[in-house]
Amino acid sequence: MTETVEVVFLGTAASLPQKNRKQSCTTIKFKDYTLIIDMGESAQNLIREYQIKTSNKLFILLTHLHADHTIGLIGFLSSRNLLKINSKVTVIGPPGTRRFFYFMFLSFNFLPKFELEIIETEGEIILNNLDFSIKSFPVKHSSPFNLGYKITFYPSSIATFNPEKAEKKGIPKGVLWKKLQDGFPIEVDGKKILPSEILEPKISKEIQITFSGDTRPCETLVENAREVDLLVCDATYPEECEDRAKEFLHSTIEEAAIVAQKANCKQVVFTHFSEFYTDFESSLEKAKAIFENSSLAEEGKRIILDYTSNL
Ligand SMILES: [Zn+2]
Ligand SMILES: [Zn+2]
Repeated sequence: MTETVEVVFLGTAASLPQKNRKQSCTTIKFKDYTLIIDMGESAQNLIREYQIKTSNKLFILLTHLHADHTIGLIGFLSSRNLLKINSKVTVIGPPGTRRFFYFMFLSFNFLPKFELEIIETEGEIILNNLDFSIKSFPVKHSSPFNLGYKITFYPSSIATFNPEKAEKKGIPKGVLWKKLQDGFPIEVDGKKILPSEILEPKISKEIQITFSGDTRPCETLVENAREVDLLVCDATYPEECEDRAKEFLHSTIEEAAIVAQKANCKQVVFTHFSEFYTDFESSLEKAKAIFENSSLAEEGKRIILDYTSNL
């Protein structure tokens, strides 16, 4: 079976929401997990609009605690109570996240009716189960702690048919081969042959996705985006606003393309766009001259990564 990792961009604006762009929020679906990276103001509306399933194993990853990445949390969690969704929620965020939740719950007089785990991290492997691992790393932005995340999804083993083994066992080509390929035992000359005797597990490559969070281009980002399948990168400003990017500790689209080029990742998607963009197409063209496999995030954009395309 081929497992896929599905990324959906929900909110792709910088701090100020725009007509067609809302504050930061991206989701990843993998097996029975949903990961949400940041929850800006419209997060729960977008989650409902794009029918993102959140009743399964849910992880919320916060890159930092600026309002445009967190203000949607309370609405989303309150609705969870109303909808009586009881499954556990794991929140991962920088130091200060527990305090943030404490005051948020206190101010809204809110008590979650579901299990809530909060993990604070400054930059290390936080979780590594059989299905995926999450690593946080520090980046350069203007809140006290700013993180990027590198998420590695582990493959299932994909069984492949070994024709040499089948011929050696004297299994005639055709229907019986097909049966084994489909996972059913067969009989040849009264002898039972199990699929496991002919099929071989073929382990495919992992899928890796890195989120830059809000940041200036920095070495830790390049390191953690090295050869990943997908880099989602801060490109708050168009190329001509480098001074502003330096002042507010964000990246221009050209700087983000240089990060992708240095990291030699497979593809980069730019996001967190400010209102300073006047012509997205020409900005993208300039970025593509630096790193070809570049694209712009937009609300509802889906990227599906699968293991077999990685072999
Ligand atoms: Zn932001
Ligand atoms: Zn920020």
